[in-house]
This record gives sequence, structure tokens and C-alpha cells, in this order.
Amino acid sequence: MSIVAKNIHKNFDDTKVLRGVNLTIHDGEVVVLVGASGSGKSTFLRCLNLLATPTSGQVLIDGVDITEPGVDLNQIRRKVGMVFQNFNLFNNLSVLENIKLGPKKLLHQKERDIDKEARRLLKMVGLSNKADSFPQNLSGGQKQRIAIARALAMRPEVILFDEPTSALDPEMIGEVLDVIRNLAKQGLTMVIVTHEMSFAREVGTRMIFLDHGKIIEDGTPEQVMDHPKTERAARFFSSIQK
Ligand code: ADP
Ligand code: MG
Repeated sequence: MSIVAKNIHKNFDDTKVLRGVNLTIHDGEVVVLVGASGSGKSTFLRCLNLLATPTSGQVLIDGVDITEPGVDLNQIRRKVGMVFQNFNLFNNLSVLENIKLGPKKLLHQKERDIDKEARRLLKMVGLSNKADSFPQNLSGGQKQRIAIARALAMRPEVILFDEPTSALDPEMIGEVLDVIRNLAKQGLTMVIVTHEMSFAREVGTRMIFLDHGKIIEDGTPEQVMDHPKTERAARFFSSIQK
């Protein structure tokens, strides 16, 4: 598995949000994407699964250019999972049905196998007892763990996390980070936008710093956080440590 972003530009009207992003994500990498609010992190993630269409440039997934007309969007979204800040669960479906919905549509498996896998994933995120609950009766941390189980149910090749703990009360952040930490240990390829810097340092195999739609730092978390090459990144890290 590999994802290659080639010279991605994204404009909204005359605002240039991404200005030539080049990045290759290799199998098993945990890429932590950081940068100030408005630097283009979410837009870049969204370009990787075509929730946003790049204005120019290419995204190759396993060598296939997904920006070509006529690509099968469903297949791309199956391969490239996404977990959002605000969970995006379906409130009218039970927890179990939320997890099974995608596989029922796109994985050609027996209902029994889909159900079994959904329950296995629920157990993995520590929520076996919530199968029949509805999202409105769950805490934010529980909702996010369900959203992760739902993404995993599609057997994605990579999962993109867009600030998965930013909407959570502080006491719930840990339970979500624990789940992501375990996925990292299992070798799942991930791209994670986060402001949890100690977590980023711990799970990231690589850190990318985005500034005004361009990558200005790319290294290990230690290199980027402790010895940034740019004054801009140095300023960012010193301001968030206060
Ligand atoms: P980040 O995730 O780093 O905070 P975003 O990718 O969300 O940054 O946004 C980068 C810039 O693009 C911001 O100035 C934002 O207002 C703008 N932007 C994002 N999405 C849209 C949109 N759909 N329409 C217009 N402007 C947008
Ligand atoms: Mg964002």
C-alpha cells in the first residue's frame, strides 16, 4: 500500500489553501500532521479520499490516480477510511448498525460474517455492551471509539484521523488515544491530525508540518519538534507548550 500526493493545489474561490503538497505515505507509517489552524490540514486529508477535489495535482493510491475521471469513489473510500472530529455517526442507527452499514453496502460478505466482525471490533474498542445503544446515549469518547470501529469495519488500507480528540472532554481523550495507539502497534497505516503533542511523539513514525498550504517540515517527531529547521515551526511548538 502506498499513497502518493503529487503537487496538490486546492483553491476555494481565490483563496489558495494548498499550494503544492508532495507527500508519499508508505505502508505501516503513522504520519502525524501538525500546523496552525487554517494551514490546510483538513483540506489535505480530504483530498486524499476525494471528499475534496484537488484543483490540480494527483493522488495515487497503489499507483492508481484517483483524481482521474471515472474512478470508483466507493472503492477509494473503502480503502481510505476517515475519522472526523465530530464523529459523524448516524443518529438514527444503533451502534451495531452504524458499524455494519458500510460493509453491507460495499463488502460482499454474508450478513453473519459482517455481524461477527462488527462485534469483534466493538469488543476491540471496549464497547461490547453498547451494540444496541444509539449514539445520543453515548459519551463523546464512546462515540469516537464507535467511529473508529466503523472505519475499521471496511478493512481500510489507511485511516485518516482529523483531530479525533478535539471535540472531547479532557477525561475522554485517553480512551480514544488508547485505541489509536493499539492500531499503531498493529501496524495500521495512519495519518493523524492532532494537537496532542506527547501522543504525536509517541505514536508518530513521521511528522509533517503544514504552513499556509505547504509542507515546511518532514522528519521524525523528535527531529521536527525538538530541532525544527524553520523558525515558523519553532514558534508553533514553543507557543503550544506554554
Ligand atoms: P486546518 O484543518 O489546518 O485548520 P482547513 O483545511 O480546515 O485548515 O482550512 C484551510 C483554509 O481553507 C481556511 O482558511 C478555511 O477557511 C478554508 N476552507 C476550508 N474549507 C473551505 C470550503 N469548503 N470553502 C471555503 N474555504 C474553505
Ligand atoms: Mg482542520
